[in-house]
Amino acid sequence: MTEEPADAWSGSSPVPPNRGDFYNLLALLPDDQRALLADVRHYLETDIAPVITEHWERAEFPAQIVPALAKMNLAGSKFTGYGCPGQGELFHGLLNVELARIDPSLAVFFGGHDGLGMGTIALCGSEEQKQRWLPPMARMEKIGAFALTEPDVGSDAARGLATTARRDGDTWVLNGVKKWIGNATWCDLVVVWARDEADGQVKGFVVERGTPGFTTEKMHGKTALRIMQNALITLDDCRVPEANRLEHANSFADTARVLRTTRLMVAWQAAGTGRGAFEHALAYATRRTQFGRPIARFQLVQDLLARMLANTTASLTMCARLAELAQAGDMQEEQVSLAKMYVTTATRETVGWAREVFGGNGVLLDHHVTRYTNDAEAIYSFEGTREINSLIVGRALTGISAFV
Ligand SMILES: Cc1cc2nc3c(=O)[nH]c(=O)nc-3n(C[C@H](O)[C@H](O)[C@H](O)COP(=O)(O)OP(=O)(O)OC[C@H]3O[C@@H](n4cnc5c(N)ncnc54)[C@H](O)[C@@H]3O)c2cc1C
Repeated sequence: MTEEPADAWSGSSPVPPNRGDFYNLLALLPDDQRALLADVRHYLETDIAPVITEHWERAEFPAQIVPALAKMNLAGSKFTGYGCPGQGELFHGLLNVELARIDPSLAVFFGGHDGLGMGTIALCGSEEQKQRWLPPMARMEKIGAFALTEPDVGSDAARGLATTARRDGDTWVLNGVKKWIGNATWCDLVVVWARDEADGQVKGFVVERGTPGFTTEKMHGKTALRIMQNALITLDDCRVPEANRLEHANSFADTARVLRTTRLMVAWQAAGTGRGAFEHALAYATRRTQFGRPIARFQLVQDLLARMLANTTASLTMCARLAELAQAGDMQEEQVSLAKMYVTTATRETVGWAREVFGGNGVLLDHHVTRYTNDAEAIYSFEGTREINSLIVGRALTGISAFV
């Protein structure tokens, strides 16, 4: 063991060395996809990472990322046709990891558009609706969002959704309030879930910005995912044409079909968050000196690094196997809930350990890790809290629903 760490890092860059793909999942991709992800990484490390901390502090979104990602043709990468690149599940997951390791909000913004917005239209739209919205969304000329949660209804969306939809001739009249909706302060269209007054079923509607009766208000005071722009949406006699009612979104079972696919994306986002925090901690451990030697020299610090790497590697490989199942059309609801539950829990542990390695500096934005520590809290709770996902797994294991 030498006194000098083999991988000393200058500390001047906001991007630590890329050490978190321990089992080399990238090798599972073909050369062209690896090259594309290398371009994504280069762009994020060069143009976004240097300005990310100030954006986090000011709770501002780096809008320049939209045309840059559009140019690399990344949106809708899981889907084929309708102008989507058709790169498949594993590519899509590892793309989320690249975004999250630089800043978790980048992956969550992208997921709101490509996973939740485009994903709902791809799964629940008619042929005409897919032709109408997916190509401009794949070009990122139109940005999407997904509005399910309400001020009084989160986990209990299936039973409790209070936003209403009333059919009136060729239009639907929507009324209600949505809370937490990512991208909604500035996006072009929002998939709104509302209960049909006639049959009591939850249905999906595409509401375009500018529709009378649709207003958004940025949520302030958020201590996690500050770069992500979350909004309260008010629907006040908001009229949308029947052509905007998603043809195959006719009950909460259809909402759940969408969430099944996006929970895998969230698990990837969490794995990328843990990986980013681990990489920052590893770099810091090699350059921070105490007792006359780098703290990486201490056994207890190495133990933390090994535990973080174990969490990250287990999370990434779990997601990669699920991506194979999803690609084959075989991924079950309880399988993805297990991943969402496990990976976000492991990530919460990882980011805590990563912060610990920084000592007091771990709560200073200049040292980056605190963004991951805070952001992991939101990822832990959205798209089904840990409890809700464990109840889905428990129901599958026992055949008994224990939700209420
Ligand atoms: C940063 C952020 C971004 C978000 N983005 C979006 C978005 O874009 N679109 C969107 O629609 N929503 C979004 N959400 C909302 C998110 O999906 C909800 O926060 C989540 O579903 C949990 O709902 P809740 O916050 O109302 O918590 P609650 O449902 O009130 O739950 C509170 C606690 O009670 C527990 N609990 C509830 N029911 C049970 C039960 N039956 N058994 C055991 N425990 C239970 C929960 O697990 C949790 O610990 C976002 C949230 C955050 C924080």
